Amino acid sequence: MRWPGVTAQGPRSGPADTACEDIGVSDSPGFSFSIGTRLDGRHGRTGVIQTPHGAVATPAFIPVGTKATVKAVLPEAMSDLGAQALLANAYHLYLQPGPDIVDEAGGLAAFMNWPGPTFTDSGGFQVMSLGVGFKKVLAMETVDVQNDDVIAKGKERLATVDDEGVTFRSHLNGSKHRFTPEVSMGIQHQLGADIMFAFDELTTLMNTRGYQEKSVQRTHQWAQRCIDEHERLTAARAHRPYQALFAVVQGAQYEDLRRKASRDLAEIRGAEGTEFDGYGIGGALEKHNLGTIVGWCCDELPEDKPRHMLGISEPEDMFAAIEAGADTFDCVNPSRVGRNGGIYVDAGRFNIDTLRFKRDFTPIDDTCDCYTCAHYTRAYIHHLFKAKEMLASTLCTIHNERFTIRLVDRIRASIDGGYFDEFRAETMGRWQGRITAPRGAPDPVAVPAQAPDSRSNPVVEGRPFA
Ligand SMILES: [Zn+2]
Repeated sequence: MRWPGVTAQGPRSGPADTACEDIGVSDSPGFSFSIGTRLDGRHGRTGVIQTPHGAVATPAFIPVGTKATVKAVLPEAMSDLGAQALLANAYHLYLQPGPDIVDEAGGLAAFMNWPGPTFTDSGGFQVMSLGVGFKKVLAMETVDVQNDDVIAKGKERLATVDDEGVTFRSHLNGSKHRFTPEVSMGIQHQLGADIMFAFDELTTLMNTRGYQEKSVQRTHQWAQRCIDEHERLTAARAHRPYQALFAVVQGAQYEDLRRKASRDLAEIRGAEGTEFDGYGIGGALEKHNLGTIVGWCCDELPEDKPRHMLGISEPEDMFAAIEAGADTFDCVNPSRVGRNGGIYVDAGRFNIDTLRFKRDFTPIDDTCDCYTCAHYTRAYIHHLFKAKEMLASTLCTIHNERFTIRLVDRIRASIDGGYFDEFRAETMGRWQGRITAPRGAPDPVAVPAQAPDSRSNPVVEGRPFA
């Protein structure tokens, strides 16, 4: 079956052309969310997030430019391939170049010459990950292990958490720093992104139930401090465009903790009555229960505010999260995987640097509409990787980001068009190899499936420092 085509539409193309029922969620100047089509009996929906720097049609994939750049790719290229917004990281930009520099430049978007909306995450994930040595000792199989001190062997703990905040050492030069909710808000206001996240404590699947309970309580208290400081800074910086603040729901794999955390965060108000503009869903979870956990949170969160799932990009994860109610999500994987020669196509993932592509003079994916597939062959990109040329990363990042964005664009169209379930079945059937793959399809076993990345799941192959 053929689905309606979706072409690239970046921020230069203007606001999304989606008919929406505006239910007036926010009276914050320049920020609003309106819902379009809902999935029958589920929380999934289409919509539009309006920010001072433009609109984001949802569901949307938000590519990550950790240090105010999507590695190896020009901002113009990200716009051309359909990115609607970019997400940068407060921890990295705090250390380098410093939030005052970004503020002086006029904010993140102006600093990086990106014409559209921007997000910053709070830095909590990166700071916490200094403390527990993610990836170095943790693995999905050890989910039953209960341990509150999961330090990698031979590694020094670089961060310690207390009720007031986190003290950590820079991964760049070992210098000592301290993040509190107020510090994170100050940094993010200086960075000037349209959407910011409250400073939260990230736990792992390894932590005990007792620690998870304590941590959810701590994240709740920090959320209150974040909104108080956000309210103060918004008033003090009224000359700047409005910045929206999302709270982050934690609670690991525990239904009662996730539901309670969601309800409690939804009730938080600043002294002047300021509410969170939306909600992030993060924390420890596994691929198989991702949709279930997002569903618990969305049962409890206000329906009229956007929800961002932190750190996913694999097709099965995006379908599950969207169905369960996530409106936006981000992940470093499309670019990180691309820089390592991993290519996403409808039939799965393959590595372009393997020998079989040495004389393959066809595009990476002849069904793809990206710049790379329009102009370059597999043999050329294979050569670039073998020769360790930088252009290899550029071309593969362009393709992978376009693949991910286009898939989410098509999912959005499938919700509006009333064929989400059919589109999911066909897409996932092809991705998992149950439908005959197109010419040149990858070896099904060439690359293992990826777990959700980064802030949604620390126990993955990705490094915490994108
Ligand atoms: Zn392509």
